[in-house]
Amino acid sequence: MNSWYAKGIVLIASVVMVVIRAPHGQRSRTTKVTKSRKGTLEIFLLTVAWIAFFLPIVWIVTPWLAFADFPLHPIPLVLGSLLMALSLWLFHRSHADLGTNWSVTLEIRESHRLVTEGLYRVVRHPMYLALLLYGLGLAAVVPNWIVGPSYAAAMLLLFALRLGPEERLMRDQFKGEYDAYAARTKRLIPGVW
Ligand code: SAH
Repeated sequence: MNSWYAKGIVLIASVVMVVIRAPHGQRSRTTKVTKSRKGTLEIFLLTVAWIAFFLPIVWIVTPWLAFADFPLHPIPLVLGSLLMALSLWLFHRSHADLGTNWSVTLEIRESHRLVTEGLYRVVRHPMYLALLLYGLGLAAVVPNWIVGPSYAAAMLLLFALRLGPEERLMRDQFKGEYDAYAARTKRLIPGVW
């Protein structure tokens, strides 16, 4: 199959992702930050996430990564596309649920409240779940040994290093309310972990 089917899907998904996030990024600039834990580790993780987001675009618009291409098959293309569509819906819903409490990094904002409804009723990190599913979808869609798994790998690194500090920040801020919330929800995978 022509790899441009995969490239087209990745381009559309990347645009949808930016369109979902853009208004929240815009709004977050006008909501005052009252506590920030944006240290060296966070800057490193944000850089990794940006590189992982742009790598598929580099694969599409340049021949630099073509040496790692392999033939595209319709089944992974379709399954991966469905997974990416589901992940983008979760990405949109989690942004809508978090509202002005969302930040790209570890921050507490003015009038920050603990969100426990919508997707946050089921898991504590639905946005990270969305990003992980997006990465798994990309791995199925992109017929390239480097670019395919790169986003999922970056997200796994991000979650491994960020989940602990993020939950500590939430616990410091919301104390017993967060303990009770954590006691009745899973982190990432509904009913499992
Ligand atoms: N980890 C969450 C949110 C990612 S955005 C998810 O995957 O859905 C990261 C920011 O969201 C952090 O700065 C933190 O302050 C905020 N945050 C995380 N969980 C929250 C919650 N349940 N209620 C309010 N803010 C939350």
